[in-house]
Amino acid sequence: MLTSEMIKQAALDAGADACGIGPMSRFDGAPDEMNPQFLFPEAKSVIGFVFRIPRGVQRGIEEGTQFYQYPSMAYGGINEIFAPAVLYRVGQIIEDEGYEAFVYRNTGARGVVSDMDGSPGNTLSPEEQIEVNEHAKTATAHHRSVQFTRPAREENSVAPDLQFQFRLAAVACGLGEIGWSKMLLTPQFGPLQRVAFIFTDAELEYDEMYSGKPLCRRCGACVRECPGGCIPSLNSGKKITVNLDGKICEWGDIDMWRCYAFYTHAGRYYNPFVPKEVWDKNENGSLDLMEGVTDVANEQEIMKVYTALSKYFPSWVGYNMAKCGGCIRACVSVLEKKGGCMEDRFKEPLRTKKAWKLDR
Ligand code: SF4
Ligand code: SF4
Repeated sequence: MLTSEMIKQAALDAGADACGIGPMSRFDGAPDEMNPQFLFPEAKSVIGFVFRIPRGVQRGIEEGTQFYQYPSMAYGGINEIFAPAVLYRVGQIIEDEGYEAFVYRNTGARGVVSDMDGSPGNTLSPEEQIEVNEHAKTATAHHRSVQFTRPAREENSVAPDLQFQFRLAAVACGLGEIGWSKMLLTPQFGPLQRVAFIFTDAELEYDEMYSGKPLCRRCGACVRECPGGCIPSLNSGKKITVNLDGKICEWGDIDMWRCYAFYTHAGRYYNPFVPKEVWDKNENGSLDLMEGVTDVANEQEIMKVYTALSKYFPSWVGYNMAKCGGCIRACVSVLEKKGGCMEDRFKEPLRTKKAWKLDR
């Protein structure tokens, strides 16, 4: 008989760092276009897997010496190699017991709404879109929704490829909480992990959602260390609140478009790959957003930034180059201190000297 214990043991044996299981009913009330209940309507359980991000992949960014390991190992490596292998193995065990394993890796899937700002992608009919095809071609890459998608069934259906909120799903599996910075925090690894899931029609024993000491210390370090000012201050009132089957989850209403620009390109003082003259010149106003000339962060501004700067450090692994990670490193530094969930995890703290900043 398939049990939760069997699944969790298989997950750990295959290389996951933690595993939690929740009932699908925890997603009752989620917006349709982000509700995983629509993926596999007969599913009864969601199994969440945590894959730790080695703290060392942040070391190069912390020192200003190496920027490639974080996107390649912690995005590419986990999403494309380590996690799928675990999903595959645990899926085998579930299906050997006669249940189905709907595996859901950390995806590049794009749904009907933009995963950047939730705005709809297919506001035009396909016919109208053909007429504006040239625009659609250039708009899709950064809008990050698919343009022509529509429900495949008439009833009780949403458009593919539905993408749900991974971090809330991890909370639903009892794996942790969401911090002010919108990162998933777990008791074991703080903000350092990625997650993946299996949905199954097997009914299992479920984990309670996390109810221990709050993992986020509401310290504001992530706010202070974001080079783009993307995370609102704690007392700004700018927050998102979600009631997940009785558990209140709350985080800062981050300016995601702004983060899209700064996460990859970091800005004048934190991007050693772009010459100073490029920032000074700000040709055609392409860097207005990053230079603080405009406060408007939207898809158009992002396209200008990426067009101007992508050539200085192309994304060879298919993942945007991370030059920032400020919120993660700030959070680790805080959670390693006394009373934080990462206290005693490492012999030496992540941050041993003043953070660097280019003088220009
Ligand atoms: S990833 Fe960088 S730019 Fe984005 S919120 Fe975090 S610190 Fe700010
Ligand atoms: S840096 Fe502080 S406020 Fe921000 S998520 Fe981490 S613990 Fe919470």
